Amino acid sequence: MITFRAPGRVNLIGEHTDYNAGFVMPAAINLSAYTTITPRDDRQLIIRSDNFEDEIEVDLDDATNLAARNHWSDYPIGVAVTLIRAGYQLRGAHLEIKSEVPMGSGLSSSAAVEVSVACALAANSDLTIDRKELALLCQKAENEFVGARVGIMDQFVALFGEERRALMLDCRSLEYKLLPVPESVRLVVCNTMVNHALASSAYNERRAQCEAGVKHFAKHLPHVKALRDVTLQDLETYGRGLPEVIYCRCRHVISENARVLAAAEALERHDLQRFGQLMAESHVSLRDDYEVSARELDVMVELATGVAGVYGSRMTGGGFGGCTINLVDSEHVENFQRTVAEGYEQATKLKPEIYVCEASKGAEQTDI
Ligand code: ADP
Ligand code: MG
Repeated sequence: MITFRAPGRVNLIGEHTDYNAGFVMPAAINLSAYTTITPRDDRQLIIRSDNFEDEIEVDLDDATNLAARNHWSDYPIGVAVTLIRAGYQLRGAHLEIKSEVPMGSGLSSSAAVEVSVACALAANSDLTIDRKELALLCQKAENEFVGARVGIMDQFVALFGEERRALMLDCRSLEYKLLPVPESVRLVVCNTMVNHALASSAYNERRAQCEAGVKHFAKHLPHVKALRDVTLQDLETYGRGLPEVIYCRCRHVISENARVLAAAEALERHDLQRFGQLMAESHVSLRDDYEVSARELDVMVELATGVAGVYGSRMTGGGFGGCTINLVDSEHVENFQRTVAEGYEQATKLKPEIYVCEASKGAEQTDI
């Protein structure tokens, strides 16, 4: 019997850049999913989760015929099926999943489950799969089996995250850089507790607008394959012919990529003030140029910005609700929580959930 742990994550900066082949900067957090695996002599996978009541049985010889059924087990089964489809031979096993990562709160409980399950299945079947491939297989499971159009960020940082480090990822090349997050800083996630229904249609619309932008710039600059390839100078020179709204969408993505690079430099210099400033600029850009914020997110950021010990605050995740990420000095965290929770409740009549996190290590075998 062995156990694998894989963490949730929060994105510090670099929003809506992943599908533009750009840069993101998440950190793995100290909330994890755990999968304990015990070998079986037969060809069955038995999967249980502490967080749900039922137990799922999968015949490994029949697994590739399975399809998602909108059930929690789609994620672990998707991982098993994707490993098999990639040519890996799995052995029968009993899997027990439990997780501290709150579900659907923007901390990527799904990638935590996928990665812990993938590591457990690989070890149980004596497979050596490198971490990059594991990340890609877990993403594929979520894209193709579960049917969620997600980027590589969550799975990647769940595998490559390190203690007291943020991870800047180039979503095109999958090159990455680990950057120091001082021990005195907490990554505080504030959940607005709203999720406006707009999200998926608006997401598709933003993607289409980015593609329209790429088409426009490629006419002038043949090397442009994604907005990642367009500089702020190019935007000035060639962007004027674009419809206003497309221009603004492009400006967000292009400036956000530049902000991630600047944020990485700031962390390398231990310059948290500068990092916080870039977080604030990111929020404004997401609010005004990309138009994916929500009143509740703006209220939460505004409340946080005035509080002692706060370096920066911005919405994190796709937008239209969900969470903010706040970089807060550990000595001021208690006061921060109290002040923001009270202010938010007064302004919205909603009780926020607040998770105080630290940048933590990626997936590993562990004692439970
Ligand atoms: P998140 O932002 O938390 O990743 P998702 O909707 O992407 O939200 O993923 C949540 C889904 O992941 C759950 O509905 C469930 O199917 C699966 N999941 C998360 N945690 C667990 C768990 N502990 N046990 C089983 N399934 C889980
Ligand atoms: Mg998810």
